Amino acid sequence: MNHLKFKKTRLQLLMTVSSLVAGFCLLGDPASAATARHARHAAAEATSVSHVVKHKSNRGNSSRAAKRKRTDSPDARKLFGAQKLPADLPLSSIGTYTNGCLAGASLLPVDGAHYQAMRISRNRFWGHPRTIKYVRDLSDKAHADGWQGTLVGDMGQPRGGPMLTGHASHQIGLDVDLWLTPAPDRKLSDDEREKLDARSGLKVDSAELDPQVWTAAHESFVRDAAQGENVTRVFVTPAIKKALCAKKDPHGADTWWLNRLRPCHSGVCVGHDDHIHVRLSCKPGDKACHNQPAPDAGDGCGSEIDEAMKEVAADPPNKSAARLAAEQAERAKAARHGSGDKAGWEGDHSKVTELEVNPPFPLSKMPAQCKAVLKASSRVPIRGR
Ligand SMILES: [Zn+2]
Repeated sequence: MNHLKFKKTRLQLLMTVSSLVAGFCLLGDPASAATARHARHAAAEATSVSHVVKHKSNRGNSSRAAKRKRTDSPDARKLFGAQKLPADLPLSSIGTYTNGCLAGASLLPVDGAHYQAMRISRNRFWGHPRTIKYVRDLSDKAHADGWQGTLVGDMGQPRGGPMLTGHASHQIGLDVDLWLTPAPDRKLSDDEREKLDARSGLKVDSAELDPQVWTAAHESFVRDAAQGENVTRVFVTPAIKKALCAKKDPHGADTWWLNRLRPCHSGVCVGHDDHIHVRLSCKPGDKACHNQPAPDAGDGCGSEIDEAMKEVAADPPNKSAARLAAEQAERAKAARHGSGDKAGWEGDHSKVTELEVNPPFPLSKMPAQCKAVLKASSRVPIRGR
């Protein structure tokens, strides 16, 4: 497991050659780095867990019947993943963030005044127009507040829906990932957008922020992201919320947005130490779109953060090569003794191949309108750069 070492060497080379700003992302093997990152993201957010629980909780005859039905139904991950263009239908987010699709999607141009889209080859820059407006507005505001430029991760597929790799959510065009690495002061090449990695804001093998990486500009960026129009949730590693809570006004002024920051812990999300995930609300009047229930009231700055921090400390997302190697050895030992965990949603994803990260997603369990979205003819967008 010399992966991290390899990444660091390449980073040092990059920093020397191109004088990129301090704190810019690590260079790494795009396939394995992306797989690990997306595997971490895959346990995804909130309601995704109920999908998994449903899969696991059926027992007995009804379970066998349900299983037969599921097996008979085509895998929606493959059907939606194969779509290259949006459905030529009236705009609508259909279903929930973790079980739905998107009709009439818009495309985020890969370059904006103050943002650059990453991993262009994935074709996941489709979304609801309010998400695209959000990215534009946030990147402009963040730039004005001192964040050099926003690097945009995945939004959704052309017709939304479940994905073969990565996210459990991002299905209705209202989710977007934003890197916690400022863009460099130049336009990245397509190749760099595939290979550069987001940099964790956490210390290695720790749940705590790394002061060598994490800056006031990072905090300002997260605050701007949470305060944006139509935002319902921003998923972050707990240390980020802890840092922002520590600076809140003791008299409760200007704390309304802290409730939107959702610290990752079991059953909610994992990782989110190198990017944040912003979720927007359904557009009013979009009757097919189902908002996630609002989080509990209050700023959420109490003991729940400490609890979440403990969980992260037990299984930190930014692991050293030594720790990764030790964990791999442990898993191999457990597998030899037949007691190894099967890699699943809640299990360790680091050893599963990319195509196995997400479980099959039967089309039959999706909202009925999503079948029409799959069947509709394509709309060719005007592609901007
Ligand atoms: Zn995400």
